[in-house]
Amino acid sequence: PLSTADLIEEHRICVCVRKRPLNKKELAIKDLDVITIPSKDVVMVHEPKQKVDLTRFLENQTFRFDYAFDDTSNNEMVYRFTAGPLVETIFEGGMATCFAYGQTGSGKTHTMGGDFSGKNQDCSKGIYALAARDVFLMLKKPKYRKFDLQVYATFFEIYSGKVFDLLNGKMKLKVLEDGKQQVNVVGLREKEVKLINMLTSGKTSANAHSSRSHAVFQIILRRNEKMHGKFSLVDLAGNERGADTSSADRQTRLEGAEINKSLLALKECIRALGRNQAHCPFRASKLTQVLRDSFIGENSRTCMIATISPGMTCCENTLNTLRYANR
Ligand code: ADP
Ligand code: MG
Repeated sequence: PLSTADLIEEHRICVCVRKRPLNKKELAIKDLDVITIPSKDVVMVHEPKQKVDLTRFLENQTFRFDYAFDDTSNNEMVYRFTAGPLVETIFEGGMATCFAYGQTGSGKTHTMGGDFSGKNQDCSKGIYALAARDVFLMLKKPKYRKFDLQVYATFFEIYSGKVFDLLNGKMKLKVLEDGKQQVNVVGLREKEVKLINMLTSGKTSANAHSSRSHAVFQIILRRNEKMHGKFSLVDLAGNERGADTSSADRQTRLEGAEINKSLLALKECIRALGRNQAHCPFRASKLTQVLRDSFIGENSRTCMIATISPGMTCCENTLNTLRYANR
């Protein structure tokens, strides 16, 4: 298992993979586990251990990442190696960003927001809340207390290239760029947070089409009204939408095309950040446009958590996720 000694401190970009357990539905249809995490940074996609018809299966493949979390890991553990180390970045005046990327049902929302499903509305243990918790701990440190920082939060979703404020009745908002290339979401509600309870107000209006929208939760530090640092935590739209581009339904096709476009733009922007490129193609999608600050500047750090399902029935989507994250 991972220990604190494994923490990679200097990475500007950290990419990791999280495998979830087989769920009840998959067990009921006797889906088989085709994912093994043999060490702390390797993911193997392989034939199921049981003898079955392998027409679905192409070849065994191995991928390496900064970290790989198996199905026994919990959110606290994943947090400690991904978003956790980035809290300091925003206190040092930088921009931090953490993405959950993967197929619908692979565990993005479980990882980021805790379990919102059914009656069990517990968001206290996801990365949003864990990051908020650590921000409040950090505020108390003598080093940062003297900055007299205020903590604000925003929570919005991007659906079909449009921005909706989840802290303000899903109000549709405009995104504008000023002469200095600063991107503003006009009228986006910022709540001053003293406690983490604002998460509970936002989540009720989320989730209607959660698999087709990107949800963005931001923790903003201000010093004398001016931005000091910003942490963006993003629960991305399901990446399996590629197939929808051939759907008979026009709206579904447009949604699928928009999602493909934004996930492609995201990959390009993260790549530009990793290479310290002066040019970042953030205008290519609404998602990357509103996250412009995340990709620009010397003190920006990003992590991506690629979530995967273990089942053979998902292996094509899983391979797509692993290939994307690998790049
Ligand atoms: P996504 O947001 O990627 O569509 P969810 O986070 O909603 O997927 O996960 C789908 C289901 O699987 C949920 O019921 C969730 O509680 C469960 N699940 C996801 N990841 C895990 C995990 N690591 N351990 C246990 N259950 C999980
Ligand atoms: Mg989700």
